[in-house]
Amino acid sequence: MYDGPQDRRPLRERPVDSLISFIIPVLDEEEAIPHFLRAVDLAFAGTGQRLELLFVDDGSTDGTLTLLAGLAAADPRIRVLSFSRNFGKEAALTAGLAHARGDAAVPVDVDLQDPLELVPRFVEQWRLGYDVVYGVRADRRSDNPLKRHSARLFYRFFNLLSDTRLPQDTGDFRLLDRRVVAALAQLPERERFMKGLFAWIGFRAIGLPFERPARVAGRTKWRPWKLWNFALQGVTSFSTVPLRVWTYVGAVIALFAFLYAAFIVLRTLVLGIDLPGYPSLMAVVLFLSGVQILSLGIIGEYLGRLFKEAKQRPLYIIAEEYPPPAVPDAPRLAAGVPQPWT
Ligand code: UDP
Ligand code: MG
Repeated sequence: MYDGPQDRRPLRERPVDSLISFIIPVLDEEEAIPHFLRAVDLAFAGTGQRLELLFVDDGSTDGTLTLLAGLAAADPRIRVLSFSRNFGKEAALTAGLAHARGDAAVPVDVDLQDPLELVPRFVEQWRLGYDVVYGVRADRRSDNPLKRHSARLFYRFFNLLSDTRLPQDTGDFRLLDRRVVAALAQLPERERFMKGLFAWIGFRAIGLPFERPARVAGRTKWRPWKLWNFALQGVTSFSTVPLRVWTYVGAVIALFAFLYAAFIVLRTLVLGIDLPGYPSLMAVVLFLSGVQILSLGIIGEYLGRLFKEAKQRPLYIIAEEYPPPAVPDAPRLAAGVPQPWT
């Protein structure tokens, strides 16, 4: 099931006493966090691996931040960035990647749907010279059928329209070498469809299959409407086919219109004039208005995104940080894409 490059070129130097940064976006997850920490300890028990646990609190409204602040005070591995409001998981990942200090970074969900026992195997592959090691969901039985089918459709549609290949059934769960993280930080766009960006930057990558278990505690934060918008964001960030297709749709319709006009002229010459035609006229007018509005809507999707890019607002605002930064400057405006390791 490996689908990365198979040749093993000379090993790249990896630090002996490496630090691995977990990047953990959390939104109202006070129930799941204790399970998560236990799972981390279990996965790395006896390995001596140095870890950084970088939680990004994406505007939680329950006790998540209080819990995390307490944990950060007690455990030197734990760091917490807290957003001023909910900016979305993609922004949380971006913030985490920008602030991670490790030799490699691993974005994970806190609900243990990304099995942590796989991470030591990610690290093994990374030591062998791979820059990106991603998890491939071997089965998606834990997702409900609607989400499963819509996800499959989305991957198909995306790969059809875009030059960037998204590997099927991969999420954000992966290990990224610090060079890859630095490359990601150079992408200036505000629309951050992380799956697509991960695929776009390239580097030597390998996939490891895993079974995705059900959520350990709490509830999923994704609603169908949010997922739909996420899919739209993915396609519009990585393909201009939906914009260009209208040239061809227009050309085909114009061709049919021309043929039909020629037919009417001929028929009138041969058979004389007849008047009926209101229903067909109506149908054609409605069809064409529909097509025009639809294409305008698609242009609007792109225009809206351009507008967002043009405003150059930061991707997120960090309101609090634990342990507190050496120079307190709250609330700190994180420039959208700070350079992590300079
Ligand atoms: N999450 C977040 N911001 C959001 C939505 C989700 O930080 O706006 C976090 C959430 O706390 C979890 C991860 O992203 O750690 C995945 O979310 P969830 O399990 O709800 O998604 P699913 O696994 O159902 O796709
Ligand atoms: Mg989940």
